Amino acid sequence: MGTACLQGLKTIFKTTSDVLIYPASGTGAWEAALVNTLSPGDRVVIFESGQFASLWSKMAKGLTLKVDAITGDWRRGADADKLRAKLEEDRQHEIKAVMVVHNETSTGVKSDIAAIRKAMDAAKHPALLLVDTISSLASMDYRHDGWGVDVTVCGSQKGLMLPPGLSFNAISGKAVAASKSSLLPKSYWRWEEMLEANRKGFFPYTPATNMLFGLREALKILIEEEGLDNVFRRHDRHAEATRRAVSAWGLEVFAQCPEQFSSSLTAVLLPGGFDEAELRAIILRHFNMSLGAGLGQLAGKVFRIGHLGHFNDLMLAGTLSGVEMGLELAGVPHRKGGVAAALDYLTERARD
Ligand code: PLP
Repeated sequence: MGTACLQGLKTIFKTTSDVLIYPASGTGAWEAALVNTLSPGDRVVIFESGQFASLWSKMAKGLTLKVDAITGDWRRGADADKLRAKLEEDRQHEIKAVMVVHNETSTGVKSDIAAIRKAMDAAKHPALLLVDTISSLASMDYRHDGWGVDVTVCGSQKGLMLPPGLSFNAISGKAVAASKSSLLPKSYWRWEEMLEANRKGFFPYTPATNMLFGLREALKILIEEEGLDNVFRRHDRHAEATRRAVSAWGLEVFAQCPEQFSSSLTAVLLPGGFDEAELRAIILRHFNMSLGAGLGQLAGKVFRIGHLGHFNDLMLAGTLSGVEMGLELAGVPHRKGGVAAALDYLTERARD
């Protein structure tokens, strides 16, 4: 079972390199990515493009790394031109890693990882590229090898449709080479022992066996039954239907650039003077549906509709119906017809 899970994950990450499995939440895999590749005081660049990127940045500081944060208003993804300029300035190659969150779960903004790789290559900079795909992998197209990523971080509880409890590092040959000289302290997260045990399909400490049974099944569904491309198309369809509902309500999607719209969740901006916590509480009380909160600087301002993982057209229809009824009950100014707009789109796509 260990070997089947490790092999199947390679297909999901689109890599021929190794993928490691930790019995931990995504935060553990964040830490594993940093402590295995870097040394105390190393300089790293991170795009603080949302709440999760900011938390990863805080972790890096806590691990004694020197963090060079590229900030923004959270409505746009990582800016490849800014990165290129920063890397070109760094002639001594002091920057050891670039950290990017592929899909910001707090904002519904997706970053273009291929463009980030291109910028790094154009600057001829040797830094490692570390990418968080916690809310994108197995929901949106992602290519660990194709986009030249060195460490991809993911967790079990989103696109992989599992409970929380497993997390992953997909690692390039360059990342493994960096791990040989990395000096940050590590024990539980150390790749070396993990890779050695994995070669025989085992783990250096007790694996979360119950979760591995689930993972094996999830991989079968994603790869053999539905097929990854169909999985991505389903997520794109649900995201578009959701945005049509938001637009029909007369509300605003938080993400600003259409090419950066997330297919796994949509963050919706409420009109000034209306608190998303109140809207969510009303929807929870009346319809027993829990929406995503506004996180960090977006608390009170946006609510988030998740449409990822084990999800279908009718589940989305129910979700959007709960939001539309909630908007009415909470007295949020909006137009009716969001659900109808989404259903029209889903019906049209069902004919394809
Ligand atoms: N990164 C992203 C993009 C996330 O969405 C999350 C959690 O939702 C995390 C990191 C943290 O993962 P975990 O809560 O599994 O530790």
